Amino acid sequence: MRSRPKTMASACKHPKVRVVSRHDDAEFVECTECGEVFDSDEFRDMELEEKARQLAAEPDGE
Ligand SMILES: [Zn+2]
Repeated sequence: MRSRPKTMASACKHPKVRVVSRHDDAEFVECTECGEVFDSDEFRDMELEEKARQLAAEPDGE
């Protein structure tokens, strides 16, 4: 019996996505892990954010 809405989606970092539909200048991707669908631009932003965080965490940057 499920009484709570799923909250896993917010914790998913969407490591694997596939393109589900494409419009003139927009592309929609679906996360194969949690099934969430979002704009690929949005996904790119998330990816960049993640990379920026990783770079910031680097101990020695030249
Ligand atoms: Zn996901």
